[in-house]
Amino acid sequence: MRNKILELLKESEDFVSGESISKKFGVTRAAIWKAINSLKDDGYEIESIPRKGYKLVSSPDILTYEEIKEYLDTRFIGNKIYYYDSIDSTNKMAKDIAFEEKEGVIVVAEEQTKGRGRLGRTWESPKKKGIYFSVILKPQMTPMKVAKLTLIGAAAVCLSLKEMGIESKIKWPNDIVINGKKVCGILTEMNSELNMINYVIIGIGVNVNLEESEIPEDIKHKATSLKIEAKNRIDRKKLLGTILSKFEELYIPFRDEENISRTIEICRNSSAVIGKEIKVMNGSTYKLGRALDINEAGELIVEFEDGNIENVFSGEISIRGVEGYI
Ligand code: ADP
Repeated sequence: MRNKILELLKESEDFVSGESISKKFGVTRAAIWKAINSLKDDGYEIESIPRKGYKLVSSPDILTYEEIKEYLDTRFIGNKIYYYDSIDSTNKMAKDIAFEEKEGVIVVAEEQTKGRGRLGRTWESPKKKGIYFSVILKPQMTPMKVAKLTLIGAAAVCLSLKEMGIESKIKWPNDIVINGKKVCGILTEMNSELNMINYVIIGIGVNVNLEESEIPEDIKHKATSLKIEAKNRIDRKKLLGTILSKFEELYIPFRDEENISRTIEICRNSSAVIGKEIKVMNGSTYKLGRALDINEAGELIVEFEDGNIENVFSGEISIRGVEGYI
C-alpha cells in the first residue's frame, strides 16, 4: 500500500485527496495516514492540507527500487532489490540468498560496515556517499569464462559515467579510475561445480559524493570520488539505474551468444593501462612489463622485461603503474 501511494503521489503534480486515494485502493483514511507517516519516516517530504490532501514535495536520496526505477531500462536486472540502510557486505548478503533467488536480483546498501575488495582487502563504503551493490547472475557457462563478467561490469560503469558527462578509464581488470585514482572497484565471486556455475556475484562499489576530507588518509594517493573529479554532486539514483541498464545490455549478448566484443572494445578504448609501463602483481611478487593490448578473450597482452609477450588473465592479478598507482 505504502508503495502504491508513493507511486500515486509521484505521478501527481498537485495535491491528491485522501478520499481519492481511499477510493482508488479501497483502504481506510487511517491506513493512508499510516502509510504517509511511514514515508515521512523514510525521508519523503509530504505536505498535507485538510480537505486538499497530500502532495509529495521531495524524495530522499536513497537507492530503493521506487527511487531508481525511473532510470532502469532492463528486462531482469534490478527487477527485485534487497535494500539495506546498512549491511556488512552486499556480496556476502547476495551469496546468502543466491541459491533461492533468480538471476538479476540485486542487493543494495547505503553503507557497508565490512565492504570487501579482492583477496580479503577492505572497500571503504561510507553512508550515502557512494553506491554499493551486488548483482546475482546465473549464466550457463563454464567457470573459466566468469572473469569476463568483471570486464562487463567495468565497461558498464565506464559507459554510464560517460553518459553522465564524466570521462573515466578502466584499469584492467576491475577498477575504474579518473586522473589516475580509483573511483570504482569490482569484486566478482563465484560458486560452481567443476563444469557448471551455480551463481556469480558481481559486487560494485562507486565513490560518488565523497568530499576530499572523507577519503581515508591511507588511500588518498589512489582513491578519489566522482564529486571531487567532476566538481559536482552526482545523482546516485540515476547512476545506479544507468549502470544496471548498461550492465544488462552488455551481459545479454555474452550470456546468450558468448558475444563480448562490445565490452572488449570499451575496455580497450578506455583502458588506463594500454601503452603504459606496468607492474603485474601476483600476490607479493611482481614482474615489470608494458601493456600492449586487450585481446578478444579479455586478456591483457603484456610484453615483459625479458622480451616475452604473454596473455595475462587471472582474477587475482593487480596492475600498478611503475611510478604511481597507475
Ligand atoms: P587493488 O586495486 O589493490 O588491486 P582491489 O581491487 O581489491 O585491489 O581493491 C581493494 C583496495 O582498494 C584496498 O586494499 C584499498 O587500498 C583500496 N580501497 C579501499 N576502499 C576504497 C575506496 N572506497 N575507493 C578506492 N579505493 C579503495
